[in-house]
Amino acid sequence: MDFEMEEVNCPICEKSREDPLHQEGSFQMVRCSSCQFIFLNPRPTIESLHHFYQKYLPEEQSSIESWEKMMKSIFRRAANILMRYRRNGRLLDVGSGFGFFVAEMKNRGWEAMGVEISQKALDYARNVLGLTVHPGPLEKVGFPDNHFDAVTGFYVIEHLPLPKAFLMECCRILKPGGLLLLRYPHTTPIKNLLHFFGIKNRLYDLPAHLSDFSPKMIQQCLERIGFEGGQHLIGGYTLPRGLGKRTASILFGSLSEALFYLSGKKILFPGVSKTILAFKGNAKSPSPLMGEGVGGGEHDGLPPPP
Ligand SMILES: [Zn+2]
Repeated sequence: MDFEMEEVNCPICEKSREDPLHQEGSFQMVRCSSCQFIFLNPRPTIESLHHFYQKYLPEEQSSIESWEKMMKSIFRRAANILMRYRRNGRLLDVGSGFGFFVAEMKNRGWEAMGVEISQKALDYARNVLGLTVHPGPLEKVGFPDNHFDAVTGFYVIEHLPLPKAFLMECCRILKPGGLLLLRYPHTTPIKNLLHFFGIKNRLYDLPAHLSDFSPKMIQQCLERIGFEGGQHLIGGYTLPRGLGKRTASILFGSLSEALFYLSGKKILFPGVSKTILAFKGNAKSPSPLMGEGVGGGEHDGLPPPP
């Protein structure tokens, strides 16, 4: 697919000075000289991205099922985490795709809905799964202020041209004390390692991914926007198709999980996907719920928020 490309300033600090970092085909990731954010520049225009996402997700039923299998354990873990703070409430999953996480939360008694930019995925979620899904992007839906108890986004923020605006919108539509849960890849440490050994790869998945957040960067952004109590965790791993990818995902996922717990939840293994949970400020953040059934008995290592 041909993309119409444009030069942009840093999506986080808006400065225009940057250094080249990694090349993948004709695309280049750069590092902002001012805030160190890593992003694609030049990048496809917002319009050309919108066209791209109409074809991004698979269409055949077998591929949709594989997609569900790939994400299942991540979704279950995330649902358990949310249920540790609230037994039910109103939830929005941004970039809800086929709607599997919305369905999971609906089954658990939440009033759950999605926002999705891909028309085919939205149709699937509405017509096959019977879910409520709004056409994206999020900023165009216009939800009221302080509307949701929880907002989630799985592998979404790295696709967004305006990640800061997205986080601000999440903050606006969340109730005070509401939960934000984001899952995102962190690829640069592995890119650096492979580059060192001269191993060619396309791990950044350009131009689909427009940026590569580090845990520190995402935490800083959330705090500046008005979130508090941000906590990272490994949060499981995906099960992609293909033996090589699947083995790598299980191996690094389990290793990083083990390291996280053995280090007293201090070491976040670089290069693997992570989940961050944060709370909208200006109110007492919720404490984890006690009692049977909450959290599904699974240990995610989350301390109570401050
Ligand atoms: Zn910057």
